[in-house]
Amino acid sequence: MTDVVHYERRGAAAVVTMNRPDYRNAQNSAMTYALDDAFYRAAADDDVKVVVLAGAGKHFSAGHDIGTPGRDVDSSFDRRAGLWWDHVGKEGVENRYARESEVYLGMCRRWRELPKPTIAMVQGACIAGGLMLAWCCDLIVASDDAFFADPVVRMGIPGVEYFAHPWVMGPRFAKEFLFTGDRVGAERALALGMINRVVPRAELETETFALAEKIGAMPRLGLALTKKAVNQAEDLMGLRAGMDSVFGLHHAAHAHNAEVGRDSLAGQNARTLRDEGKH
Ligand code: ZN
Repeated sequence: MTDVVHYERRGAAAVVTMNRPDYRNAQNSAMTYALDDAFYRAAADDDVKVVVLAGAGKHFSAGHDIGTPGRDVDSSFDRRAGLWWDHVGKEGVENRYARESEVYLGMCRRWRELPKPTIAMVQGACIAGGLMLAWCCDLIVASDDAFFADPVVRMGIPGVEYFAHPWVMGPRFAKEFLFTGDRVGAERALALGMINRVVPRAELETETFALAEKIGAMPRLGLALTKKAVNQAEDLMGLRAGMDSVFGLHHAAHAHNAEVGRDSLAGQNARTLRDEGKH
């Protein structure tokens, strides 16, 4: 199996698995579009009632690919999230804003609107860009070894592109989470209301698929309308408009970094973020 995303059916569930375990499932554009294909396939299959998003190996996702050999930031793909132009061959904000509108904010919003319940099954690391993948799912089941962090303040950036923090963990804790970049364990995440369940690592699959099976027994339209109802309520609580406003701040930070320093990430990479985030 060399596909960056693996798709399978398990009863009424579609299982979409990120498959770059050697790189802790770092998300490059190839993975993003493979995920989109998989979600579209699950949405179109009348026998699929619920979707489980998983990560192969020890970790759910280390975040966006900012340093593996498969990094493909300068590659073109058929864009699907909006009508913004291809970023390739553009400079500065013309490049970054177009690219991140498409592959990060746009794609996560698209997946959040998949008209079937989605469950993120999270083990190990769920860092920065990994949070976006878990948060755009409806439910999150985590193993007791799971941990969550968004350390991008080290880049001078106010959180990842899909800025759901104040809505998924409350504004008070969102500030601590973002100011410190510290890892938050599964039990704390549960107490904050950010995830649905914590289970022992050995029972993660069993528990997640038991939940998927229970949901899968419900009527398709009922599930779709219920999901839309809660998503609409969340948007009325400001999620969508808040994200749009913060996306501008996010790009002000990228532009500042590029203007005063070496690059839009303030010279940080996966290793420096990981090492500094350990203490
Ligand atoms: Zn960004």
